[in-house]
Amino acid sequence: MTEYWKQCGFYWRPLGGNNIDQISGHCYQYTDVRESGGKPEATTIIVDLGKFDNHQALGIKNSAAAVPDIREILHSRELNLKALFITHSHPDHLNGIIHYLKAGYALPPLFGGKYTRMILEELYDEFDVPSAARPEFIQIDDGSVWEIGSLKIEVLSSSHTCFDSYGLILFSRDGTLYHTGDMKIDGSTYFRKPTNIKRLKELSGQIGCVVADFCGITEDGFAYREADTYKKLVSIIKKSGKKKIFIPVYPTHAEMYIIAFLAALKAGKNVVFYGDKDFFGYLKLIIDYGISFEKLAGKRIRVLFGPREELHSLNGNFAVIGTFNDIGNYFDATPQNSLGIVTARTFFNPLRGQFNSRNIPFVDVKNVPVLQGYGHGFLGDYEYLNTLLKQPLFIPTHCPRFIVDSFRELAEYIGMEIIRPTPQNNNLFKICGKQCSLVKTVPATWLVVDYGNGDAHFTEVWQKPTSGEGFLKRTFSARRCKNKFKMLLHKRQTKGFEHGFKKIR
Ligand SMILES: [Zn+2]
Repeated sequence: MTEYWKQCGFYWRPLGGNNIDQISGHCYQYTDVRESGGKPEATTIIVDLGKFDNHQALGIKNSAAAVPDIREILHSRELNLKALFITHSHPDHLNGIIHYLKAGYALPPLFGGKYTRMILEELYDEFDVPSAARPEFIQIDDGSVWEIGSLKIEVLSSSHTCFDSYGLILFSRDGTLYHTGDMKIDGSTYFRKPTNIKRLKELSGQIGCVVADFCGITEDGFAYREADTYKKLVSIIKKSGKKKIFIPVYPTHAEMYIIAFLAALKAGKNVVFYGDKDFFGYLKLIIDYGISFEKLAGKRIRVLFGPREELHSLNGNFAVIGTFNDIGNYFDATPQNSLGIVTARTFFNPLRGQFNSRNIPFVDVKNVPVLQGYGHGFLGDYEYLNTLLKQPLFIPTHCPRFIVDSFRELAEYIGMEIIRPTPQNNNLFKICGKQCSLVKTVPATWLVVDYGNGDAHFTEVWQKPTSGEGFLKRTFSARRCKNKFKMLLHKRQTKGFEHGFKKIR
């Protein structure tokens, strides 16, 4: 069979985002092949190069990470790799870059947002990546357009949980494709641009395929809006009547630092930022990015970075915002004067114990899910997109395969077209308008990274199910997922749509 890069066409290949049962290590290849001077000429870009979180479950001794296998693309002259686009700064989309550089590979120019660049530079320093090994970095922004070989690529802002999250529109002669990156529709983001719906509307009918973030597809309705998270926080703080509020946040979710801060400000609470090195590292980045908490506070509240002596001057009236598993003894927290608000699902379980052992009452995301502030679209977001873009073909990513398989019945009922067969890492697809067909199946591998002698060393491992193994056991089970979709389908069949969308077919 002739190699695909010798046949004109627009190709897509997931290299990490379409795993069996875990959702990390995102990486996608796009190759556009056009005739030039009588010969086929390929242009390849990679979107994201993340790390696979559950590397321990792959069973290699002393593993420090696992990354998608892009060696073939890096080595191939024919594929002509021109660029690596980074949709946003989260480790499952970004950190693979570091391990490849540490293993001695040269990477093409990186395209990413300002905040992504800041995070990347932190990582370069942390991992001691010499300046000469750092690839060129080209800054992208909402609306910027790049011509790269035979592809045109337009950058689109996205609502997600960190600054400068982007989606991409890829224009090929064979079709226009929207790669969402991590995204929800929410238009209420603070201090950054939300998902660019206006531009998507303009491209409605032209976009044939959507390579979509299906991470939250099992939840009904729209993803939580940041404004709702904020309002809920304010109301819980005010209603509690407590003087001391403890609000732990995810270290990598910049938006929650800000939402929690704004809620404390609204409720008239002084703010003490408190946490580990990781937390203060990210906090510094947010400040360097241009958010001044002191300026936002004005004369209304005081802001402290760490529990300092000035704590006494706050009259015991404050919100503690940070990443901590222990509330320490600085704050004089008692069941009478304190309330905990846990804004994350798994990370802070030890903190629940802390609150319990001190008899401090708390609310958490289990009872009040909106507190989590969620960065991925729910089913409602994608129904909205389906209508907005006039029924494109959806190509799910960022979710295990079984989620796509059990979603099909419901998708058909609501008129959403989903690619067949369900994509699996390393399989090659050809895109044409609204069609996306399987060209080649190749078994998927991960590269497990270890730092035995200082530099990264890769060991190739076949992809295999890892749920229930390793430190990451939070994956949604296949059975629970099936039941969830069954329930949602039943709800639609009996009650119709709650969002007011019409069934088209
Ligand atoms: Zn993300």
